[in-house]
Amino acid sequence: MSTFSAPKGTFDTLPPASAEFLAVRDTLVAPLRRAGYGYIETPTFEDTTVFARGVGESTDVVSKEMYTFTDRGGRSLTLRPELTAGLMRSFIEHRLYSGALPVKLWSVGSVFRYERPQAGRYRHFTQVDVEALGVDDPALDAELVALATQGYRDLGLTGFELLLTSLGDETCRPQYRELLVEFLAKLDLDEETRARAALNPLRVLDDKRPEVQAQLADAPLMVDHLSDSTRAHYDAVREHLTDLGVTWTEAPRLVRGLDYYTKTTFEFVHDGLGAQSAIGGGGRYDGLSAALGGPDLSGIGYAVGVDRTLLAIRAEGLDVVTSPGVQAFVVPLGAAAKSFAVRLVGQLRAAGVSADTVYGDRGLKGAMKAADRSGATHAVVVGDRDLAEGVAQLRDLRTHEQVAVPLGELFDRVRATVGA
Ligand code: AMP
Repeated sequence: MSTFSAPKGTFDTLPPASAEFLAVRDTLVAPLRRAGYGYIETPTFEDTTVFARGVGESTDVVSKEMYTFTDRGGRSLTLRPELTAGLMRSFIEHRLYSGALPVKLWSVGSVFRYERPQAGRYRHFTQVDVEALGVDDPALDAELVALATQGYRDLGLTGFELLLTSLGDETCRPQYRELLVEFLAKLDLDEETRARAALNPLRVLDDKRPEVQAQLADAPLMVDHLSDSTRAHYDAVREHLTDLGVTWTEAPRLVRGLDYYTKTTFEFVHDGLGAQSAIGGGGRYDGLSAALGGPDLSGIGYAVGVDRTLLAIRAEGLDVVTSPGVQAFVVPLGAAAKSFAVRLVGQLRAAGVSADTVYGDRGLKGAMKAADRSGATHAVVVGDRDLAEGVAQLRDLRTHEQVAVPLGELFDRVRATVGA
């Protein structure tokens, strides 16, 4: 019979490397918890319309990359290509806006996009997602940017750069859009790019092809056409960021892949990742709640790609501090010792000590190897003869020193020794 592989563009995360994945995920999340954000979990799939309206029909994500299916009840559902739209759907459905504002939320989970797989670009990946909803305060924009920055710093990353701009809002973007459309109309662009320009002209600024970029040198830029209110907002964000010790690069041509952004928009890129250099990004999306049928409330959020952040860590040659496997390992030699080991491991675990033992007939050599691999600093080695004498051997797996400990004291000695 033939065997199966993980679907194209997906991968398995296996131990021990999976411990690094968890550590990265948790380190990215820790600053959010410290800042009072609450955990939210929403379904992995939503009504397709939530993304079509929330992310924007003109985006690649919606037009080309969604995993959409009809369920057995005839509903069109889509595996989430990002988390924000689903979180916003939940925020509106549960009227979270009727409580104290801002509502600060974080989530983490699987995201699905039918993209062309390559290094750092997958069809199934994991995002840490953060949203602060219901208040339009530049200090909140700065808080979010600073929290993302903190997560990367806590991982030890240094090779990242924050790209920042303002995309304006309804007080200035429509006028700017007209200017840009006029400008683009005079260029020599292919059919597909013209079509893109008709749907969302800003997206053309982000075209990576040199022949297109060459024509865009004199393109009007949103930051030069901000209204007084959006300029004041952007200035305040930058002041707060300076106060928070965050540095950035002005990126007036930054356009993100999702349509809902307004005002502050940002992306984190890493120089060790090649083409797929974005490790996180986000911005303000003051029209999203209304677009999903909710009240006209502002919001700001970002998403960090956990998998790409891990690649960035590897590119910098950093070690991820992972919690070691177990603290104690019990090696039984003989039938009576086996029962003793099972009991001791159960007691240790119940008392909060992480512990493991061998299963199956491994022999002394195999069992000691398993003990070494387990990450434990100490092993309890116990044979039937030890039991008859009322002792067990407590062995330091780093120094190989071993002492006989009376059985009555063993449990407390192990706990004290492994520092639990
Ligand atoms: P986006 O939702 O497109 O703004 O993406 C936010 C972050 O998710 C990016 O900065 C990446 O780190 C990560 N990301 C986006 N698409 C992919 C992908 N196909 N594979 C892996 N990570 C991705």
